[in-house]
Amino acid sequence: MITIKEYTTKAPLQMIGEFSGICWGANVEDRQKNIKRAWDCIESGHGRTEEFPDVYVVIDGYSAKCLRELYTHIGGSPTRLQASTRYIDYAKGFDAVEPPSVASNPEAEAVWRETLNVISVGMNKLKELGVPKEDYTNLLPLAYRSKMVWKVNLRTLVNFFGMRLCNRAYHEIRALARELKDALSEYSPEWKEIADALFVPKCVHVGFFTEAKSCHYRPPKSEINIVWEGGNHDPQ
Ligand SMILES: Cc1cc2nc3c(=O)[nH]c(=O)nc-3n(C[C@H](O)[C@H](O)[C@H](O)COP(=O)(O)OP(=O)(O)OC[C@H]3O[C@@H](n4cnc5c(N)ncnc54)[C@H](O)[C@@H]3O)c2cc1C
Repeated sequence: MITIKEYTTKAPLQMIGEFSGICWGANVEDRQKNIKRAWDCIESGHGRTEEFPDVYVVIDGYSAKCLRELYTHIGGSPTRLQASTRYIDYAKGFDAVEPPSVASNPEAEAVWRETLNVISVGMNKLKELGVPKEDYTNLLPLAYRSKMVWKVNLRTLVNFFGMRLCNRAYHEIRALARELKDALSEYSPEWKEIADALFVPKCVHVGFFTEAKSCHYRPPKSEINIVWEGGNHDPQ
């Protein structure tokens, strides 16, 4: 489950338009002009302007494996806190994210459940033997459901969605990305506008697929005529 916290501005476009307008000596009282100016900045690729709106979000119920992938997104120095494996007693019970490939196969599911049970029994035995929580939780599988509080700016989010909405990304983090996009779209009309235009797979922005293997959504780079001949970039 994803919850956008109220510390997140509902008016990210106003914010960008106002702040960039201040730098241009523009009239920043006009709401529509601010929004237009914000889009001019964004569409021109003036990435710093996207660093003003921060999103504060609670991400609950995704696996530690999925959150591990989230940790790789470090552009703009996002901040996060994750549920503790030192203070929470997972020997009392933990949930795990079961992949569809396991859930749809009764034999595989039996192995899955048996393995999780062994881990649970093991943690409880270690607990009885006086091993502290912070040590017996080392037995937790990557699939256990965890919780994270994340602060991230719009610029990093555009990059995040570009990578993680791609059908080459692992299905769980794609599901997380889709849920986050939906939650922001519902949070305010300005976020919806941004989500519709910017929170898309990277190939939509660049016009060809960027991963080594095709996403089958855009053609390969070799089929796109984007060869730069070099030289200067002066107007003719
Ligand atoms: C299909 C897929 C497979 C993957 N497989 C693996 C894998 O096997 N192993 C693995 O470890 N990861 C893997 N990843 C994660 C991937 O390698 C990236 O680490 C992750 O997606 C974060 O992307 P990023 O670096 O663009 O984002 P960010 O770290 O958020 O960076 C965003 C942008 O900020 C700039 N930036 C960030 N940090 C710096 C810096 N220090 N210096 C200069 N510029 C900076 C760069 O322009 C960068 O593009 C995979 C991702 C995908 C989508």
